[in-house]
Amino acid sequence: MKYCSTRGQEKNLTFEEVLFSGYAKDGGLYMPEFFPSIRNEELERWSKYSYPELVFALARKFIDEEEISCAVLNDIIISSLKRFRIPEVVRIEKLKGGINIIELFHGTTLAFKDLALSVVGGLIDHYLSQRNKHIIILIGTSGDTGSAAIEGVRGRKGIDIVVLLPDGRCSMIQELQMTTVTEDNVHVYKVEGTSDDLDEPIKQCFGDQKLVSKHNLISINSINWGRIMVQVAHFFFSYYQLCSNVGAPVEIVVPTGAAGNITAGCIAKKMGLPITLVATVNKNDIISRAIDKGDFSLNSSVTQTLASAMDIQNPYNVERLIYLCCDGDVERTRQIMDEFESKDKVSIPDDILHTLQELIADSMVVSDTAITTTMKTVYAENKYVLCPHTATAVYYHHQRNSDAIRGFIATASPAKFPEAVAKADISPITDGVEHLQDLPTKFLWMRKGEDWHSILCAKIENITKNKDRKV
Ligand SMILES: *Cc1c(COP(=O)(O)O)cnc(C)c1O
Repeated sequence: MKYCSTRGQEKNLTFEEVLFSGYAKDGGLYMPEFFPSIRNEELERWSKYSYPELVFALARKFIDEEEISCAVLNDIIISSLKRFRIPEVVRIEKLKGGINIIELFHGTTLAFKDLALSVVGGLIDHYLSQRNKHIIILIGTSGDTGSAAIEGVRGRKGIDIVVLLPDGRCSMIQELQMTTVTEDNVHVYKVEGTSDDLDEPIKQCFGDQKLVSKHNLISINSINWGRIMVQVAHFFFSYYQLCSNVGAPVEIVVPTGAAGNITAGCIAKKMGLPITLVATVNKNDIISRAIDKGDFSLNSSVTQTLASAMDIQNPYNVERLIYLCCDGDVERTRQIMDEFESKDKVSIPDDILHTLQELIADSMVVSDTAITTTMKTVYAENKYVLCPHTATAVYYHHQRNSDAIRGFIATASPAKFPEAVAKADISPITDGVEHLQDLPTKFLWMRKGEDWHSILCAKIENITKNKDRKV
């Protein structure tokens, strides 16, 4: 499998090259040059696979054997998933009223990002040990990516990680999961701004080719193809757990922020998995407007909501969706994205919109009040606590009755969001994170009015200098 940019200037890249990059050089995102379709016989065979076996089967479609042998790939996946708190990695909890909760949060940091970042961390480590190379991972987070990425790489020799988190916009637990890590290779900044504000200096750094190649800068935000690839597996796994027989349809409702998760769902569908996808969002509703009527335009600012990991302005994976929906037409993708980037809005052309609506059948915007009501109702009926993001998906179920078999992606454990749990009048749940409050913290600041881009560049230079001293 070879990879290309959604905007056409790069082609024929290896998986390794794509894994070790952020944005493509032309500003696009990387995608495989084609999507292998899963034939019926294979679809049937895969239905007996465990979650790790599905990750392997899918990764094998997207990483050539000449790049990583089967035995090594299998080792990477197994050892990356070993630290999950349940052996099956992903579990489905069946509640009353046809509410099937797809629990993706049994990793170390209690959010679904552990699924992909653990394996991506393993893949990166594999290549680094072969190449004897040092890299710097640079990411911004709205809460869960940062901690999952840090867990994936803390203490690893060839990697330093710089994380920017938006001060006061993550939950206390999310913040502590990042600021209590004291390993030398982890550098955490609290930034006085929103998660979109902190994306700016990061994008500036990645736009600087000299900086990127001098320091081997990479991103493991969901712009990174490796993450999307791994996430395709949980759609297959959930499908098999829920379908009445292989081939029968299943609806999967996905709480959506930057659209990395649902993009993986769309790829699963494109490969032949018979799923119907629904996206739910909080008041930051750009995705919903785009799917509903092709109105892909930024909101004027980010609204803080209870589902804070979805408080984003620019869902960058929509570029991948557009690319998918125009059948890999790089000219059209580039035109649409150019217009979006210059005007902060673009109207998605009708034919592309039509295909998008085939991929994602419905969407819903969910308010904070609806989130708490849903958390309360589900708790009252099942004694089961939803995280606020997951509640957006279940709210959809309460609004749109259907006989279809439905799964609801649970993106995080409610223990990460005690503020929201308290708002729903549910007593606190701890899930093993209560000790974080007693640990020492380590972090730096980026204050309003400072030049964040320069601060980052200086930090990066400094890391490289120190690394040279260490080696
Ligand atoms: C990241 C995250 C989301 C959004 O996922 P996307 O792939 O960005 O759409 C939703 N819920 C939680 C808890 C998250 O951490």
